[in-house]
Amino acid sequence: MKKYNQILIKDNNKKLIYQLIEEFPGISRVRLAEQLKLSKTTVSALVDELLQENYVIDQGAQVSSHQGRRPNSLMVNNKNNYIIVINWRKDNAEIALVDSAMNINFCKAYDMKNTSDSLGKLGSCYQDFIESECVSIRILGVCVIFPGMIDEKHDRLISVVLPNEKSGNYRISRLKKIIKEYPLAILNDTACFAYAENVFEKLNEDSYIYININDGVGAAIIHDGHLLSGASGMASQFGHFSVDRNGHSCACGNKGCLENQIGEMALPRLFQQYGIKSPRKDGEKIMFKDLAQLVKKGDENAAKLMEAMAEDFAYALCNAIALFHPKFVVIGGIGRKLGDDFLTMVRQNMKSFGFQQFVSDVEVIYTKLGEASVVRGAAKYYMNSYFRFDDMEANQLFCG
Ligand SMILES: [Zn+2]
Repeated sequence: MKKYNQILIKDNNKKLIYQLIEEFPGISRVRLAEQLKLSKTTVSALVDELLQENYVIDQGAQVSSHQGRRPNSLMVNNKNNYIIVINWRKDNAEIALVDSAMNINFCKAYDMKNTSDSLGKLGSCYQDFIESECVSIRILGVCVIFPGMIDEKHDRLISVVLPNEKSGNYRISRLKKIIKEYPLAILNDTACFAYAENVFEKLNEDSYIYININDGVGAAIIHDGHLLSGASGMASQFGHFSVDRNGHSCACGNKGCLENQIGEMALPRLFQQYGIKSPRKDGEKIMFKDLAQLVKKGDENAAKLMEAMAEDFAYALCNAIALFHPKFVVIGGIGRKLGDDFLTMVRQNMKSFGFQQFVSDVEVIYTKLGEASVVRGAAKYYMNSYFRFDDMEANQLFCG
């Protein structure tokens, strides 16, 4: 037992060292020892292991105009170590290679339309990707970003955004059989966006709600610096908060769900309902940016629709704020394309809902990160939460 504990402590220290090298490229062994309050001998031994195993590189002493020798600077080796991230969406799947310095090195999009077996198709895209793009490189793991809930207990993936299939098709065990060469992490999309906000945007608050407005609507709650329910998407279903109990029926079984009132998938129905002429050709998807443009051009019906969406969103948001009292709310996803007009309307509507003393000090902002942050967020979450340098096995599975 004692020996096992020592191995765990060593693996943990090795990972802490690696994470600091990733966060502060060029850091020295002396600085690592100071930061982690470890002896220089321990740090040097673990850095040597990381060097030998090609996880980090030693760039040698950096040139200095000062007298004396500068310490050697360490960097993660991002030329050979990658994480495969699969962003599984309704119309397409993007597969990316993220290097160990968290840069997206390469990304390929696969069409997912017109398939009766979405998961089977995802498997063939993945096979194509590893055979054509992953030759002579080390893969540290595979992340699948899933737009829905990851219910490990019942071996199922639940999404109302992906094509309706027999529920038996979206089995976690089936996905695991498809991706079997490397450790696999299945992560909720909104949680990955929220995590990216935490680690790349370095928000100084540790309690906030991240809302992902996309085809559907999701939320991730960061409370005391932690993602509630990890990255499984099982903590809340913000998109299925009902904002009208007599409203439109939703695939989840509820009525008047928020995502049917403000999600991009709902726009064709809403355009018709408000008598707005679509600027798109028949069969083309109506997008948030179309609505924003119509409002800018002064289309009155479009303005009415946007106002109704802002009202429904603010109503749901104020209820969520009453539950969690975050310091602020970050809106991400393509919902940002609704623009500043929408944000102004949301802020205005929030003055008429909810417990005002609770709601009035909560700031609502758009994220500054782009859409690709979901991919980097997934890779970073996997490395920080699950990856280990020793005792990692090819067939390991991590849910959420
Ligand atoms: Zn619903």
